[in-house]
Amino acid sequence: MALNAYPPSVKELIQRLARLPGLGEKSATRIAMFLLQSSREDVFALADALRGMRGRIETCSRCFHFTDQDLCSFCADPDRDTGVLCVVESTADLMAIEQSGAFKGRYHVLQGVLAPLEAIGPEDIRIKELLARVEGEKIQEVILATNPSSEGEATAHYLHKLLRERGLKVSRIAYGIPMGGDLKYIDRVTLERALKGRLDF
Ligand SMILES: [Zn+2]
Repeated sequence: MALNAYPPSVKELIQRLARLPGLGEKSATRIAMFLLQSSREDVFALADALRGMRGRIETCSRCFHFTDQDLCSFCADPDRDTGVLCVVESTADLMAIEQSGAFKGRYHVLQGVLAPLEAIGPEDIRIKELLARVEGEKIQEVILATNPSSEGEATAHYLHKLLRERGLKVSRIAYGIPMGGDLKYIDRVTLERALKGRLDF
């Protein structure tokens, strides 16, 4: 059914939903139809959740993770190791590392990566704030956990240089062969990284 055949309010809902990641017009229409058949309470509760989320959530004044306080739960947690900082591109990456349970230090969210082709330079992401933190907090080690994309690698190299100049221990997260993976199907760059990032056995 053409979009114009819907009442204007439904059409607008579909168009807005279709802009969400992973949704096209088809899925958006399906969600809109589902909501039209849901109870008023359910739909209003969803609308309230959206409004509440956007109204209260800000970024942490220290690490730029999302929070509804001044400091996020990681920065405010006295049990976390304050000497180690894990630098990530986004809150989604932070959550992935957090869910692994393998890191108990603090984070710094860059809110992007260096991307010269898109004119995103050092002043466009949270690098200045990172340098201020390593100078102001008692940080001994910085783990660079940007993604293994060309932008992520370039950002890691750039930060590595700046941080080493300041006398910090800097490490890069090791990327390797996924569990259950098969060497002959792994791309060359991943294999190269896995070999370079090998550990004592
Ligand atoms: Zn924080």
